[in-house]
Amino acid sequence: MTQSDIKKGALLVLNSGSSSVKFSIFQLDADGAEGVVPLFAGQLTGIGTDAHLKAKSEAGEKLADESWATKDEGTVPSILPHLLTWIETSLPADLPLIAAGHRVVHGGEVYDKPVVVTPEILKQLESFSPLAPLHQPQNVAAIEALAKTRPDLPQVACFDTAFHQGQSDLCSIYALPKRLTDQGIRSYGFHGLSYEYIAHYLKQEMPDLAKGRVVVAHLGNGASLSVLEDGKSIETSMGFSALEGVPMGTRPGSIDPGILIHLMREHDMDAEDLEKLLYRESGLLGISEISNDMRDLQDNPDPRAQLAVDYFCSRVAKQIVSLAVSTGGLDALVFTAGIGEHGPIIRKKIGDYLNWIGIRIDPARNDANASQISEDGSLPVYIIPTDEEIMIARHTLNALSV
Ligand code: ADP
Repeated sequence: MTQSDIKKGALLVLNSGSSSVKFSIFQLDADGAEGVVPLFAGQLTGIGTDAHLKAKSEAGEKLADESWATKDEGTVPSILPHLLTWIETSLPADLPLIAAGHRVVHGGEVYDKPVVVTPEILKQLESFSPLAPLHQPQNVAAIEALAKTRPDLPQVACFDTAFHQGQSDLCSIYALPKRLTDQGIRSYGFHGLSYEYIAHYLKQEMPDLAKGRVVVAHLGNGASLSVLEDGKSIETSMGFSALEGVPMGTRPGSIDPGILIHLMREHDMDAEDLEKLLYRESGLLGISEISNDMRDLQDNPDPRAQLAVDYFCSRVAKQIVSLAVSTGGLDALVFTAGIGEHGPIIRKKIGDYLNWIGIRIDPARNDANASQISEDGSLPVYIIPTDEEIMIARHTLNALSV
């Protein structure tokens, strides 16, 4: 199939978790620069307890807000066929679904780009589960469930790690015995689809800057930063797992690994206890004991909330400087994702830590969430809203075309 053969139809983009599924539908747009345009999107949440479907058209019109508690046996794979039916009946008859693109957290050391999934490849993706035990099995199960119900529908796996493949050893190994590095204990990095979207955006909209050194701060509930040079990922803050780097909603970011040995020895904690501590109980929630959500903390006078916010901002600022060492400097800073796009208080605090490297945030531009939020004459700072879903849709279309 070549790109010119694929003119009409719709693409399904899926991001599957343990009890929720986010989905977006795109229509092919053969004449448009991007090849796809969004039609509608939604999410199924509470699967296994109180499943609920919400969906909206691209124009914001409500398409669904209803309980699905009776629709399945309570797992994502068992509810997916119902979701597929709902999606297909919501699409115009002349817009058949022609493929599904999945966000898959891990592509191991094998995949530096998306791949059309075959049964052999699915087995291989399953074998990466120990690298991302909380997410990979859910991603694989969703692909498997769709393959069972619609064996003819091509499915494309788009990896969160792929964009970071190709980083130098200097930027991606740990100082561990080489035999462990050789077994794949190294930094993979995540949020790759978001960074790739930003790199693509910069190339289209700011081609000169795109050739330079840009730190992108993806600050959402999960948070990481990457430094790009000439559109490529040079180094990133997340590493072997999605725990490394800056603090997050419920994850601590980098901590002294000696703490883990201490907790195992003196607090009798095993792998499962540590996983719970590090993925669900730490970060902003752990420090503040109030919330994992920056909106609840940023102007909360409780000193625990303020410590959490300051800790987050200072660690992000340190990470920006640290990443810029690998590129020998910095030409621009980009904020993206929930906090990055909508959090002026946080962006200002981060900027204040970086006055000494020439970053000055303009208060009015920052409060307005403008696209450029730095003062004139400052090292430029931009907000670029990320869009991982359209990145997956574009990848899915491209993977079908080769
Ligand atoms: P995820 O990592 O789950 O994809 P998002 O990128 O959607 O998350 O970011 C969600 C986070 O963004 C929320 O937990 C919240 O902390 C933060 N956020 C959203 N809106 C604002 C805002 N107006 N001010 C500060 N933080 C915000």
